This record gives sequence, structure tokens and C-alpha cells, in this order.
Amino acid sequence: MTIMQAHIPTMFMMVIIVSLTMTICTALVWRPERKEGLGYWTLALALHSSVYTLYSLRGELSDFLTIIVANTLLAGVFVLFAEGLMQFQQRRLNRWLTYWPLLVVPLVLYALLDQLAARVVVMAAIVLYQAILVLVIVFSRHRQTDGRGQYFLITAFGMIIATMAYRGVGTALGMDQMLLITSSNPIQMATFLTATVSMILVGMGLILMVKERADAQMLKLAMHDELTGLPNRRYILEVLERLLAASNRQQQPLSLMMLDTDHFKLINDRHGHQVGDQSLKLLADTLRSRLRTQDHAGRLGGEEFLVVLPNTQASGARELAEQLRQSIEQSTFLTRDSRPLTLTISIGLCCLEPGGELDSQQAISRADQALYLAKQNGRNRVEMAA
Ligand code: GH3
Ligand code: MG
Ligand code: MG
Repeated sequence: MTIMQAHIPTMFMMVIIVSLTMTICTALVWRPERKEGLGYWTLALALHSSVYTLYSLRGELSDFLTIIVANTLLAGVFVLFAEGLMQFQQRRLNRWLTYWPLLVVPLVLYALLDQLAARVVVMAAIVLYQAILVLVIVFSRHRQTDGRGQYFLITAFGMIIATMAYRGVGTALGMDQMLLITSSNPIQMATFLTATVSMILVGMGLILMVKERADAQMLKLAMHDELTGLPNRRYILEVLERLLAASNRQQQPLSLMMLDTDHFKLINDRHGHQVGDQSLKLLADTLRSRLRTQDHAGRLGGEEFLVVLPNTQASGARELAEQLRQSIEQSTFLTRDSRPLTLTISIGLCCLEPGGELDSQQAISRADQALYLAKQNGRNRVEMAA
């Protein structure tokens, strides 16, 4: 196949340069203190370039270096990929699953030093196993991983698996007469191409995964209140807009609940700010445990919360509000010196019927007025906007 003829030293240079370039890229974005796997990944890519440097010196250096050491290092490259990925995912697998090739490769290659085809087949099988292992590690956390960087890894290790299968089976079936790594033939070309493209993909993939996870964390921080973990003002108002539009489209009612802790200033003054904070957390936990999955609660600010209840009529909203009020009143909340503290809330409700004219701002101010009424009428009660 003349079309497959390629200049072998150039192919070696390509793999080496690409691996080194990706080494520099991952090293530049690596932050050791974050333990995101990029340290292992950088080492793996650097090692990969040294593996191909040794391969390219076949015949010039000893077989021990260019066969046994080089292939053991290649097994090490995949061990480092697996380690880096597990560090990214913050978990550990059984070490033997990842590390056995480091022992087996040098022993088997030493035993097969004179049998080229057998050596190629065994190495292909081991690398195939290692690539599958990495792919399994990626897939097992597929859902929990933010973004699309993981698809770069899946593509890269998929390519490696396909190439190693081709290399192993092709060699075993004697499809290839010129197996020397320094010769030009379809199997070698596929190996070189995969070695180049997959290293670009793995480097970019992990960098992207790290960035995407940081972005997702930023977004979460920007949307949630630190103390209670509930959606913050901006986020809950956004949710309200969205759900209100949906209710109007679907001709469904929607209820709003404005909730405020009674005499919160007194709690702070008497028991300290920390106890005040704790009681806000308790309130948030109660909201989280009592609300249905389609409901949304957020902290508007201070000791004021907004609850959005899609698909809920006045009667249902009042019932839920009453349950919440009682649940808070009955909760046994202890202060730092273990004295019970009674916490109560007042709730203002506003229910939007389908086809109503109110926008979100008007609805909120109605709920706010109802809340004001609840405060005036003695607190620890629920009032509904007219
Ligand atoms: P009312 O029954 O009328 O609602 O009285 P109140 O004391 O609860 O209302 P007011 O608005 O006068 O006081 C709210 C207090 O909430 C004032 C502020 O110091 C306190 N506060 C606001 N945010 C926080 C917070 O994050 N933690 C704590 N501990 N206190 C907060
Ligand atoms: Mg208050
Ligand atoms: Mg208030």
C-alpha cells in the first residue's frame, strides 16, 4: 500500500512534539493544590514523549532500553492517566487493577525478546486493557461530570482501543509482515496517528473538564446563598419568572409564599448572631424537607424567604403554609447553652389564577402586603392577599 508509506522519523518527531506540546499545556494550567489530576496527566504526556523518543532510537540504543524500558514506560503512561482521572473524580480504585502492567510488561517482554509478533500482540492486549480501564473510570462518573470535556477522553481512549485491537489481531493473524516499529505499514501508521491524535484529545479533554467543573462550581456559588444553601435572591426571582410564564402558558394557577422569621432581631440580640444563623439554617432545612419537588424556595435576604408553588391553588397553598408554620413552631431548637428556643414565622400568600394579569413584581408585592398583615395581626400566622 504505497498510500500508507510515510517517513518514519517524521512520524516519530510528530508524536514526540505533540506529546511535549500537550505536556506544556497541561503543566501551565496545573494547580498542584487543587488535586484535579493535571499533575499525573502532565507526567503521563511527558512520559509518552520519552517512550516515543526511545522507540525512535531502536537499533541505536540497546533492546533493553528501546523495548523493555520503553514499553514499561508506555504502561506507566496509562497508569498515570488512570491515577489522574481518579484524582479528578476524588476516589480510589484497587491499586492492582491499575498497576499490574508495570510488573507484567517487563517480565513478558524479557521472555519474548526474540519473538517480535508475540511481543506486539501481548503489548497491544495490555494497552487495550489499560485503555478500557480508563474508559470505564470515565463512564462510571459520566453523569456526575460537568460539561463535554469527557467526550474528548472517550474519543481518545476509544481510538486507542480500536487501534490496539487492530494491532493485536492484525499481527496475530499475520496480516503484517513488517512489524518493526521503525517500518512503514498500515498497522504502524494507525498506531502513529492514534498516538498523535489521542494525546491532543486527552490533554485538551482533561483541561476542559477541569475548567468546566470550576465553571459549574462558580455558577452554583453565584446562584446560591452560602448560609442556607438555598437559591439566592437573583436565582429565585429568575425561577419565579420562568414558572410564572409556564403557568400562564399552561393555564395553571401558581402560588407565592413570602416568609419572614418573627422577632428575629430579638433572637440575635438575646442569643447572638450564631444562633440566629443556626435558626435560619433550620428554617431552610424545614423548607427543603416539606416542599414538593416542583416547588422552589429561595432566600430573598436577611430572614426573608420566597417560596414558589407552581400548579397550586389558594387552598393548597394555605394548607402548606400552615403546615410550615406549625412545623417551625414545634421544632425544638436549642441555643448554645442548650436552652430551647421558640422560633416562629409569619407567612404572606398570593395566589395567581390562570389568565390573571399580575406580573412577578406585582405578585411579590401582594405577598409582601399579606406578610405585613400577618405581622400586624400578631405574627406566627398565615395571611392571604385579597
Ligand atoms: P419582625 O417580627 O417584624 O419580622 O421583626 P424582626 O426582628 O424579625 O425584623 P427586622 O427586619 O427588624 O430584623 C431582621 C433582623 O435580621 C435584622 C438583622 O440583623 C437580622 N439578620 C439579617 N440577616 C441575617 C443573617 O444572615 N444572620 C443573622 N444572624 N441575622 C440576620
Ligand atoms: Mg422578621
Ligand atoms: Mg424581615
